[in-house]
Amino acid sequence: MITSENNTLSPNHFSYDIFNQILDGIIITNKNGFIVDVNLAFCQYVDLKKESILGYSLSHFVPQNEHYKLRSNKKLLDENGKVRGIIPIHHSRGLSYFDILTTVDSTNGNTISVLRDVTDKSTLKQQTEQYEYIFQDLFIEALDGIIFWDLKGNIINANYAATRIFESDIQDLIGSNLSTYIAKKNDHYEKIVKKLFNTGAVRDEILLIMPNGQKKLLEFSSRLHSVDGFHMTILRNISQRYEMEQELRKSEQKFRKVFEGSLEGLILWNDEKVIIDINQSACQLLNCERHEFLGNSILGIVPECNGNIEKIENMVKLLKKNGKNDGTLIIHLSDDSIKYFEYSSIYHLYSNVNFSVFKDVTEKIEMENRLKKSDTLNVVGELAAGIAHEIRNPMTALKGFIQLLQGEMQESQAMYFQVILSELNRIDSIINEFLILAKPQAVKYSKVDVTTIMKETVDLLTAQAVLYNVQFETYFDQFLSIICCEPNQLKKVFVNLIKNAIEVMPTGGKIVIRIESKDDKNICISIQDEGVGIPTGKLKKLGEPFYTTKERGTGLGLMVSYKIIEEHKGFIKVESVEGVGTTFHIYLPVQ
Ligand code: ADP
Ligand code: MG
Repeated sequence: MITSENNTLSPNHFSYDIFNQILDGIIITNKNGFIVDVNLAFCQYVDLKKESILGYSLSHFVPQNEHYKLRSNKKLLDENGKVRGIIPIHHSRGLSYFDILTTVDSTNGNTISVLRDVTDKSTLKQQTEQYEYIFQDLFIEALDGIIFWDLKGNIINANYAATRIFESDIQDLIGSNLSTYIAKKNDHYEKIVKKLFNTGAVRDEILLIMPNGQKKLLEFSSRLHSVDGFHMTILRNISQRYEMEQELRKSEQKFRKVFEGSLEGLILWNDEKVIIDINQSACQLLNCERHEFLGNSILGIVPECNGNIEKIENMVKLLKKNGKNDGTLIIHLSDDSIKYFEYSSIYHLYSNVNFSVFKDVTEKIEMENRLKKSDTLNVVGELAAGIAHEIRNPMTALKGFIQLLQGEMQESQAMYFQVILSELNRIDSIINEFLILAKPQAVKYSKVDVTTIMKETVDLLTAQAVLYNVQFETYFDQFLSIICCEPNQLKKVFVNLIKNAIEVMPTGGKIVIRIESKDDKNICISIQDEGVGIPTGKLKKLGEPFYTTKERGTGLGLMVSYKIIEEHKGFIKVESVEGVGTTFHIYLPVQ
């Protein structure tokens, strides 16, 4: 039996044991607020011996700025006989938070406080609160729209930025359904919904239609069950970017139209001289397919002659330096014709792209050359007219007296005499040719059959042809080849050309003469020989005054011929292959 007399086993003793064994701290204070007893747990909490605690008030262990909590606790205790709260207590290791429950012992007026360390819990709560604040701030201040919505798609909260995106008041926005804003419920939309519910999150772009009818392209990211079980979507208006893209696409289309529709050749190429794009006209001008150029070097667009490659290399260099460059390329085509291309290139610094425009100026250049030639012709013509008249008079006298002398010549001198006469005749023929150039000439145009003139000319020259072992072959079209012309002058042209043809075949050959109707407007007279031919480079010189490759040539025959044909509103074209032969084509208008 346990008796009350046995101190060690008395109930008091027993409860005192619990008092010290218990894990919660216990403080007993008297009516004056001084601590009269503490248990072991509390001593350990504050890391002090019992003796250093007794006699102090609780406020001794609580930081000054938290004393108000003690005061309000005291007030509540007086009113209710019981109070609960959280107070911080400092000790040698720092500050700990205690959940403190204080009751009054009605028998003696002492107060009993039970303390439990909640330091960890308290900081956690504080942190959570802090996060909550940050989240609130973020939600309100975010530049991106943020909306929360429930499983049915009803918006349950939205921030300010979201109201601006949706052009609605917060009251109108909350409660509205997300699906009402979708502009097009197309495959793209279905895909987004599917992905969101399959993976729990989706990030994409979508076109929304706002209550005021405005369409907006939004970039968004959605996450299911992100906060408090609601779904969250963050939105950003990218309509401006969308419009800019649209604008760009439009201007790109415009550029395409100009690029493809241009009659001039256009080429885009990069810093590595690689062709990025080339338009239809360029392909036509260069006589190649588009795919043959794309991805290849710009140097490949022209054949490697006439210094074209150097010109292009130089252009590339100058483009880098000056940003632009232009010039002319001369291109020999496979059919031996020559083409002139004028080009102009610019370098676009920001896009690192070079842009070249070129056009075929062959006709223009040929026209210029012809003009130049006819200019010289006119000058020479005027000069010739003057000189020819001056020479003709003394010539007539010379010829007359020489013929008078002929009768009195000795046999031995007869040979010299022949030379003098033939040379005088030569001078005469030169003067006659010159005179044709002379400006006001007594020309009489009439309607004549060209075929007849040609037949007469061939008859005239047959004797000379036989001498050189040359045969004529004539093909005259069965059509009415009557044109308006000066027959004698035309005959002169035919004589000149056929004589030249005979002269280039010293060992004989064949001359083919054709008269064909080209179309309703033109006839073509061609004279083809089997002579040495003319080098391409020399073709230009034909018709220039005094250009001759013959020892006793005058270099005037072609010049006169060109001039006569020009006066007849026609033109002469020459085709020649070295070692094979030459063909002169005379084009004359029928009218
Ligand atoms: P010429 O006959 O007095 O030399 P032309 O004006 O008639 O003067 O001819 C000029 C030059 O043109 C000739 O010297 C010759 O070099 C060249 N030529 C003209 N016709 C032919 C031809 N059929 N074949 C080759 N070369 C020609
Ligand atoms: Mg000649």
